Amino acid sequence: MITEQYPMTIAGDLVASEDHLLTHVENSQFMSPQSVRFIIIHCSATRCDRDYTPEQLKHDHLLRGFIDVGYHYYIRKDGTTTQHRRLNEVGAHCRPFNRCSIGICYEGGLDASGKPKDTRTIAQRGSLVALLIKLKKQFPKAFIRGHNEMPGAIPKSCPNFKPSKEFAYLMK
Ligand SMILES: [Zn+2]
Repeated sequence: MITEQYPMTIAGDLVASEDHLLTHVENSQFMSPQSVRFIIIHCSATRCDRDYTPEQLKHDHLLRGFIDVGYHYYIRKDGTTTQHRRLNEVGAHCRPFNRCSIGICYEGGLDASGKPKDTRTIAQRGSLVALLIKLKKQFPKAFIRGHNEMPGAIPKSCPNFKPSKEFAYLMK
């Protein structure tokens, strides 16, 4: 007969007890609120004069082998915000930080000629701030960062502005 020894590590997660295993780590797709250390902002890297719908985003992410949209939230040019993953669900947007972060993406990030640029509309800015305030209430200790501000992330300019600076006032 096998006796399980706790704590044990399963798929990189420290499992304290059988109870913990059954209630929190039924599969590795989920994270605990305490494990959310970053709120990471992205752009879709699409041209600001084109539409990139949540359906297109989902289509493209499924092609990349994701189970759904990799971000938790997507903010359209008109400010419409859609949620694609539950807050405790591990996203697919910023390796190796997916297990400790919430991912937000705004539609755009390229100017009309395809060059990287902060193309956020006023509506997008408003929706982003509102969402960040809401998330900071749920995850008070989380740092707000841009994809390009995460160490070890593949070098890129995404999201073409500096969230750590712009939203420093939310991290006090
Ligand atoms: Zn990104």
